[in-house]
Amino acid sequence: MSGTGESSRGTLFIVATPIGNLEDISHRAIKVLSLVDLIAAEDTRKTKILLDHYQVSKPMLSYFSYNEKARTPQLIEKLLSGQSIALVSDAGTPGISDPAYHIVTQAIEKEIPIVPIPGPSAFLSALISSGLDTKSFVFEGFLPQKKGRKTRLEALKAETRTVVLYESPHRILKTLREILEGWGERKVVVSRELTKKFEEIVRGRASTVLKELSSKPTRGEYVILVEGNPS
Ligand code: SAM
Repeated sequence: MSGTGESSRGTLFIVATPIGNLEDISHRAIKVLSLVDLIAAEDTRKTKILLDHYQVSKPMLSYFSYNEKARTPQLIEKLLSGQSIALVSDAGTPGISDPAYHIVTQAIEKEIPIVPIPGPSAFLSALISSGLDTKSFVFEGFLPQKKGRKTRLEALKAETRTVVLYESPHRILKTLREILEGWGERKVVVSRELTKKFEEIVRGRASTVLKELSSKPTRGEYVILVEGNPS
């Protein structure tokens, strides 16, 4: 697949993939994945499941947080030599709490064309189904696990826009507890396993949501949404 426009360089496509349900992918994304020379994938095994589903067969290279800095020059070389590359995450949109930023900045520096192929991102699906204010919101991704966590939570307390966080099953209750203790009885929404078999959306005041989630095992992937500071 040649690059876009007049450039002899290949194109870097940033391709969004499903966050669970394999059908949540655009026709254009499938087309791009089947036409590029190479797919740089955060998790090649997961991406292979998606490619097999759509009968796409393509060389893949792993590109994840621990090798992105080392791997980027190799990918940039390929792009400069005219090859086109699709960058995909394990799930959702690359660059959203996932690698992409590094290669995108390097590609811009080398005047390599970058084309985004939009699609799912967990925070957006969670936000639009939350019932919280969608006019303006702040996406924070994961809170720091240790250093800086308290300061971040303290800073976000004053935030008047809807706050959107990503969280793992191991820390979901701890984070909800900290939000309740630090920010009070705000409206909270927890969206779990969106687009998957055990999709669940829990809405209520912070203590109610915490109580409900504490009553069962915490499993899967979570988005936490908190209403902005009402005062
Ligand atoms: N790039 C992805 C995106 O665009 O949403 C996010 C990747 S980040 C490493 C993974 C986190 O996203 C999970 O820990 C969870 O907080 C959230 N997430 C991903 N898929 C989800 C889903 N199906 N339901 C709820 N949250 C999800």
